[in-house]
Amino acid sequence: MTENHLFAQFRAAIDRPDAVFIETENGARITYGDMLAESARIARALKGMGLMPGDRVAVQVEKSVAALMLYLGAVRAGAVFLPLNTGYTASEVGYFLQNAEPTLFVCDPAKQHDLAAVASTAGVPHLETLDAEGKGSLAERWSREPAEFDDVPRGPEDLAAILYTSGTTGLSKGAMLSHDNLASNAHTLRRAWRFTADDVLIHALPIFHTHGLFVATNITLIAGGSMIFLPKFDPDRVLSVMPRATAMMGVPTFYTRLLAHPGLTREAAGGMRLFVSGSAPLLAETHAQFRDRTGHAILERYGMTETNMNTSNPYDGDRRAGTVGFSLDDVALRIVDPESGQRLDTGEVGVIEVKGPNVFQGYWRMPEKTAAEFRPDGYFITGDLGAIDADGYVSIVGRAKDLIISGGFNVYPKEIEGEINRVAGVAESAVIGVPHPDFGEGVTAVIVRAPDHAVSDTEILAQLDGRLARFKQPKKVLFVDELPINAMGKVQKNVLRDRFWNTYAQ
Ligand code: AMP
Repeated sequence: MTENHLFAQFRAAIDRPDAVFIETENGARITYGDMLAESARIARALKGMGLMPGDRVAVQVEKSVAALMLYLGAVRAGAVFLPLNTGYTASEVGYFLQNAEPTLFVCDPAKQHDLAAVASTAGVPHLETLDAEGKGSLAERWSREPAEFDDVPRGPEDLAAILYTSGTTGLSKGAMLSHDNLASNAHTLRRAWRFTADDVLIHALPIFHTHGLFVATNITLIAGGSMIFLPKFDPDRVLSVMPRATAMMGVPTFYTRLLAHPGLTREAAGGMRLFVSGSAPLLAETHAQFRDRTGHAILERYGMTETNMNTSNPYDGDRRAGTVGFSLDDVALRIVDPESGQRLDTGEVGVIEVKGPNVFQGYWRMPEKTAAEFRPDGYFITGDLGAIDADGYVSIVGRAKDLIISGGFNVYPKEIEGEINRVAGVAESAVIGVPHPDFGEGVTAVIVRAPDHAVSDTEILAQLDGRLARFKQPKKVLFVDELPINAMGKVQKNVLRDRFWNTYAQ
């Protein structure tokens, strides 16, 4: 083994040192040559701290170009990069540090006081800082280093990253991703979505999650393209850079928020060739409205932290709203009965299982949890429920744990939400199951009203009657001001279940 498997994939781009890798909003340009120099300095600084191949580098910092360089420097140094959601509290970070035992923890200087205590309790040897401007003790260290580094050799199976799952039930688990899990998926997606050195990607996603860190960044690096790097999603800012861009990757809320902006027009999106959506379900209405307004059919894909991306709608051909398209070239996907593990027929709903070079190596230090989520023939049980239609399009009906069993019948929340969202005066809805004395679980609708609407529970229920079988109709409709949504645009149903757990308590 002589090369660093993941970083070696980016060589073609690196051979064009003057090409732009990142453009910031205010027009600063970072070339591939700059990226190579900066990541070399970082790798040297990490090695200088005694970091050995396979050691973890945990990072909880605001999004910045420097933070992205830290990812690349860590990979080059042979480390395992471990990004943490910036929303985690000190005690949550404490759990990750205890669990992952990193050699280095990098945090925001503003949080240093609180985090130093948890890092010290967890026995982390090095604590450094990095802020949103790319300044801090770590940047000071690496700025003193020469810009040359011999990449630490790492093979395809060696770990490149650990990403903790959002942990909606129980403790978060660290998904171990190898160099080849990341490299193979980036190549497959680059081909599927036709990325080239001419692409300019709008990057408005967070970089602690698989979507912004791996899908967006690794594809760009493999293609040798460039990214317009925005600190966060803001429709004004996205629209202002759109004329310079060719592609965008987003979560569904990006698209609903762009649609709410009068600046989203056919002309504004005229230079774009691709809009990708993923990480949460894109409503068919959003797809249709975006197409009407811009002429672009959003390309929806499906993946998860543990598996990278699994399916995608076609680049050429019909991008079907409400589906996540076909399994990717090197991904095998099947739908099985969750209990028996038997393969199901076309159109039948079951649990989605996948196998391929994209699928992770297991959960960090949780061999039992890992074993429980793989079948003996190597398929990973995603926990998502879905079906494959006669044309091969996969659709997702929800997480298995969100399935509601009411009176012995299976109720898929997505179907009920779709019907509720059609009622005038409803802005958003989430359907959950909570304990019910007669039915086991009661189908419960949590609804956000549209501004200036006063639609009532009886009006909503009256409209659902006749559209949905009786057992699917909500036993209760509850109104909230907003739904709890995480950074990736996912409704946190566990939060709603906790809040409304006693709805039917007697
Ligand atoms: P994460 O590991 O945070 O990326 O979350 C992965 C989960 O997000 C998947 O298991 C799915 O439940 C959900 N997900 C991702 N993409 C889609 C999509 N296009 N449609 C519906 N759900 C999705």
